[in-house]
Amino acid sequence: MSTHISKELDGTFLSGRVCLVVGDISKQQVDAIVNAANWTLLGGGGVDGAIHRAGGEAIIEACREIRKNQFPQGLPTGEAVITIAGNLPARFVIHTVGPIYGRHDGREAELLAACYQNSLRVAVQNSLRSIAFPAISTGAFGYPPAKAASVASQAIMDFLANQYLLDEVRLVFFAQSDMTVFLKHHKFKLEKTEGS
Ligand code: ADP
Repeated sequence: MSTHISKELDGTFLSGRVCLVVGDISKQQVDAIVNAANWTLLGGGGVDGAIHRAGGEAIIEACREIRKNQFPQGLPTGEAVITIAGNLPARFVIHTVGPIYGRHDGREAELLAACYQNSLRVAVQNSLRSIAFPAISTGAFGYPPAKAASVASQAIMDFLANQYLLDEVRLVFFAQSDMTVFLKHHKFKLEKTEGS
């Protein structure tokens, strides 16, 4: 049988632990969805707006508590915190602040990787098994989607290599074209098909 790359076309990687879908992050039924938040934690547009609109006031209340008790100056870029998920189908929301492209003196990739790794770490600390990410920073924060794909996939792959509890990392793209860019630029190791 000829050698060929498996699992690329249906958008699953790393033995099925990572999958790609097109959809709305706020509708994902997983243990936790990740919010592409901003430092205020008090809402915004894009993913942030969709999550707070669908999740209701309970999430904002929880974010206000975190601001008051843990991060009075706001959540630093690259950090992640967890709250309840209000009316969402997910059980929890993990809020992380992506870098604004061009505003971090060349540390953008490091900070974007930190968003993914800290979100995954918070999920594991809370014994969660499934998590869904939007394409952090690629909207209002202006991170080029091709570069973000490479950073995000490398960060997820590095994390999962040392961590066995998480069995689903779902990457949610708003449009098919966003997923296509990701598929061209990701760094996930591709598995060979059986018998190849
Ligand atoms: P950031 O401020 O971190 O750039 P945005 O929310 O502006 O975050 O956008 C991040 C990515 O999420 C963009 O690619 C955008 O198209 C996409 N996006 C926006 N709304 C949703 C949604 N409801 N579900 C999934 N992805 C979304």
